Amino acid sequence: MQALRGIVIAALAICAFAQQQPAPVEVVPIRGNAYLIRGGSGANAGLIVAAREAIVIDAKMTEDSARAMLEAIRKVTPNPVRRVILTHSDGDHINGLAGFPKEVTVIAHPNARRDIEQAAKDPKFGFLASWIPRELVSGDRRLDVEGVQVELRHFGPAHTDGDLVVWLPAERVAYVGDLLFIGRDPLIHRHKNGTSFGLVSTLKKLLELDADTYVSGHAEPVGKAEIRKLIASLETTQERVRVLVAQGRSLDEVKAAFGVTGTTGMPGRRPGLVEAIYLELTEKK
Ligand SMILES: [Zn+2]
Repeated sequence: MQALRGIVIAALAICAFAQQQPAPVEVVPIRGNAYLIRGGSGANAGLIVAAREAIVIDAKMTEDSARAMLEAIRKVTPNPVRRVILTHSDGDHINGLAGFPKEVTVIAHPNARRDIEQAAKDPKFGFLASWIPRELVSGDRRLDVEGVQVELRHFGPAHTDGDLVVWLPAERVAYVGDLLFIGRDPLIHRHKNGTSFGLVSTLKKLLELDADTYVSGHAEPVGKAEIRKLIASLETTQERVRVLVAQGRSLDEVKAAFGVTGTTGMPGRRPGLVEAIYLELTEKK
């Protein structure tokens, strides 16, 4: 027993160490001018190397990780990073802005800017006030970039109501932030007006893009087959919840039918998937 306790304590210590020491940041070529940035604290990021500049997609979660990312980028290209595109407003994608020069142009959806302005009111995240997005994209937009065609898309509320997709048609790569979760339930931020039904329609739009590599925040890149699988599983869950709601079942009964016990996610803000679907189906329009 004593030995087992020792092992458990050692394992916890390793976990704590792992949390303090994120994996080193690495810049991985995908195709042509498109790169994936792994490691550091926070979500995966992206890099586009254009003729005279480098554009970063998402900013990591800490100042240190963002600086490590910028250093890793310098080993890939001498081009300066003047623009950062945010796929949405979650902290693990944006708090690393603190490690970027203040002159950088931050590009985001207006609703992501709303969230960032809100977050900046909290003294803990007050630093974000220096990186409020200046360039706003609310629909389809082609960015003016020398040497690479960069298309921005917003397909409506899904993970949040400020999601942006960065699509490189020549590379056939799309950076999709947290629109794709692989191996775990999709996350719906109700407090940022995210919706599971919006997510399904957005995922269908992703399939329409001429792309074969989808880079997301918390998984390895995937192709269209994985997106189709995710749509099918989401639609199956939505349909099951719909049938139970039509039978007049309560939220607790619906959750029990899915084997979901207790509180999932963060009540009200980030409910678990089944709860999010239930709330969407039952809320008064
Ligand atoms: Zn997110």
